[in-house]
Amino acid sequence: MQYLEPAPIKDRENPLESMMSRFDEAVQVLGISDELYQILTIPARQVIVGLPVTMDSGELKVFEGYRVIHSTILGPGKGGVRFDPDVSLNEVNALAAWMTWKCAVVDIPFGGAKGGVACNPREMSAGEMERLIRTYTKAMLENFGPDKDIPAPDMGTGAREMAWLMDEYSKAKGKTVHGVVTGKPLVLGGSQGRVEATGRGVMVSTLASMAKLGISPEKATIAVQGFGNVGSWAASLLEDKGCKIVAVSDISGAYYNEGGIDIKKAIDYRDQNKGTLEGFKEAEKIDPDDLLLLPVDVLIPAAKEDVITGRNAAQIQAKLIVEGANGPTSAKADVILKDKGIIAVPDILANAGGVTVSYFEWVQNRMGYKWPLDRIVRRCEKAINNAFDHVYEVSLKYDVSLRTAAYIIAIDKVATTYKFRGGY
Ligand code: NAD
Repeated sequence: MQYLEPAPIKDRENPLESMMSRFDEAVQVLGISDELYQILTIPARQVIVGLPVTMDSGELKVFEGYRVIHSTILGPGKGGVRFDPDVSLNEVNALAAWMTWKCAVVDIPFGGAKGGVACNPREMSAGEMERLIRTYTKAMLENFGPDKDIPAPDMGTGAREMAWLMDEYSKAKGKTVHGVVTGKPLVLGGSQGRVEATGRGVMVSTLASMAKLGISPEKATIAVQGFGNVGSWAASLLEDKGCKIVAVSDISGAYYNEGGIDIKKAIDYRDQNKGTLEGFKEAEKIDPDDLLLLPVDVLIPAAKEDVITGRNAAQIQAKLIVEGANGPTSAKADVILKDKGIIAVPDILANAGGVTVSYFEWVQNRMGYKWPLDRIVRRCEKAINNAFDHVYEVSLKYDVSLRTAAYIIAIDKVATTYKFRGGY
């Protein structure tokens, strides 16, 4: 397959393009050299592999798999493995770069990486998934390693696949290597608090930004798009802080209750209803697009990328947007939101709680020791609060948005580290 530029497609509004335009904006403020620009935009390593897998039918199918290490300047590569039919080298390149910036913003000693296989996990049996992830791991043996490149779950993969990955890697090395992967089952060296970590980071970022705007949690109204891991945990933790969640949505539709939705009840309902809110009676069903336009204090997009765009940004009424999902706001929307005075807490800060606790998992694995939940919670919240304060300070210093400030911090950190490490 031909090498594709990590810089995104320029002729349409997409999350990759959005990311690179934010990168460029921050670079303009920082004024880095052309040499450093190249170092930060051209991935350190791109691996493409053919993965022959025997399907349940007995037929052999060859999948294409990727692993991109965008940067190892701050430390070993870190990033998930995505199983999805739309996976491409171009997408994996952009997601790997995103990880570099995210780790740098929360001050974690990891570089950025991402992997993926173009396949459809919804149509594959557990046996086929196991053979695929084991074949992928074998093909990536020279790439992966607790000091080199540490994968994690992403779209289409979870704790089950990470357990197989760890096992395959360990077999090849002739010893158990817990630290080669994060997001493992608890019994296999996974970390307490990892499941809710991203939602926790969203909650912390929401409270920190509400405090800057003088919105008290007890008076705040919130709408959450997406009721999966990130959305439901963020909603639940914010409910615990006294906030009123007036709307939630998932793939089945959007649900609104002006008086507030009981989030614990909604989670129980979802868990007993094949994972969706379909038929949820404690709220009125509304048009999913309208959820984004509700007159709430805070809007939390926590479903997918590119939902706040040039098409709907002008109609958004929330005072604050906290990005639980990766890339929910396009670059065009940013400009409109800024004109309207709407503050956006960017994904690379707001949803970094997940990678922060993944880092804690790696640390625990390397120590051969388990931390209790209260320690994880305390350190995760401190990391996100510190990162938020830093981003806020830099946004005031340069008179830029929180998003540009987050990119400035990340790029400056990686660039400064590179200057110390040096090259040929
Ligand atoms: P998930 O699969 O657990 O949940 C996704 C939710 O979004 C589901 O409720 C689904 O029904 C809903 N959804 C899908 N399409 C929708 C639509 N069109 N409208 C409304 N809802 C829709 O996924 P997740 O782990 O919660 O991830 C959500 C986002 O957060 C993704 O962008 C992901 O990359 C990002 N993220 C996740 C983590 C993590 O630790 N899970 C970390 C960082 C970023």
